[in-house]
Amino acid sequence: MSISSALKVLCVLYPDPVTGFPTAYARSTIPTLSHYPDGQTLPTPASIDFMPGQLLGSVSGGLGLEKFVTERGHRFVVTSDKDGPDSVFERELPDADVVISQPFWPGYLTAERIRNAPKLKIAITAGIGSDHVDLQSAIARDITVCEVTWCNSVSVAEHAVMQMLALVRDYIPQYGWVMKGGWNIADAISRSYDIEGMDVGVVAAGRIGLAVLKRMKAFDVKLHYTDRHRLPAEVEQELGLTFHPNVESLVSVCDVVSIHCPLHAETEHMFDDALIGRMKRGSYIVNTARGKICDRDAIVRALESGQLAGYAGDVWFPQPPPNDHPWRSMPNHAMTPHTSGTSLSAQARYAAGVREILECWLNGRPIREEYLIVQGGGLAGTGAHSYSAGDATGGSEEAAKFRAV
Ligand code: NDP
Repeated sequence: MSISSALKVLCVLYPDPVTGFPTAYARSTIPTLSHYPDGQTLPTPASIDFMPGQLLGSVSGGLGLEKFVTERGHRFVVTSDKDGPDSVFERELPDADVVISQPFWPGYLTAERIRNAPKLKIAITAGIGSDHVDLQSAIARDITVCEVTWCNSVSVAEHAVMQMLALVRDYIPQYGWVMKGGWNIADAISRSYDIEGMDVGVVAAGRIGLAVLKRMKAFDVKLHYTDRHRLPAEVEQELGLTFHPNVESLVSVCDVVSIHCPLHAETEHMFDDALIGRMKRGSYIVNTARGKICDRDAIVRALESGQLAGYAGDVWFPQPPPNDHPWRSMPNHAMTPHTSGTSLSAQARYAAGVREILECWLNGRPIREEYLIVQGGGLAGTGAHSYSAGDATGGSEEAAKFRAV
């Protein structure tokens, strides 16, 4: 049945650029993809009201949804003010029917916030990874949680490969010598190695993990993976993969480990002192999955002791991280803010995906199975395959400590 009453759609997006909303872009177009690597079709909304390749993920971009939502008689509220009891998000939540949020600047939907949002029916992730929603509470309240599966998986895989190379070759300090005006080759290469011949492993070979393995094959490394479900034998053979039944076995043989599982009850703090202690001295970790899969202070300790030679990724906990978060200043890191899945190319796909989800939901049509995380009071679709029930939002209130500079 389609929805006819006026709804409130509350959308949490990251702030506009400090330099102002762009009026020009580095490139005029982005490539048109025909389908995703496994054949899944790209989002299929009836139409879009934005130009692919332009900024959509910040407040003024509004995911290109405002016209669509308001023309149907619904209210569209967009804010980046999302943390703390006085935030716009918290004030607007009590009568919101729909919440749209992005993992890059997550509007955390904790148990308490869900309790204070009695009308909330659907939480849409503009991206992939719905751990900013207390899934257990969503299950209990029969709130649908969905995300735009595949929309930025390859974007993240590209970022992970870039960061593996940045760490092993030690790119960031070398760039630093150029910026300082120096030509200090011996200093610049003092931690620089070739990745060729190394053992490289991924934790989870889902959409992103497999895309990373495929890309890393070209570097003549030995490839490893662990996952809850094993890949088809022909894929293992084609890529020359070694399967490990658990993460302990994987990390003990790898020089570089890239993390690609979702954050859920099973994976929270997976990389703690004990697991990192099983790694070879001087290993590298790249984590573009979720910050909380790693124990924050264990990572710092391992970099300081030299157990880890480097750590990179783009995911933190909470987001934004407080200004004194130790990952900002720990040694030998190559972190970015949470950007890998929100390239201008990815934004076009997830904005279209959110539009498709809203069109379906408002018109009483089923949302694609692969977009579903929670539906009908239980894990569903991709959620049933890749997640476990529970809550990973604990501690997210720390995000209120962040101050923009
Ligand atoms: P997929 O659902 O395709 O893959 C997730 C994989 O993780 C599945 O193969 C799943 O196994 C596996 N997995 C789940 N739990 C475990 C576990 N305990 N141990 C080992 N493997 C496990 O998702 P994507 O690859 O598209 O995305 C993965 C994650 O990457 C997202 O959930 C999100 O957190 C993060 N991400 C980050 C982005 C960024 O901008 N940095 C953007 C997009 C995603 P199985 O299904 O076989 O049970």
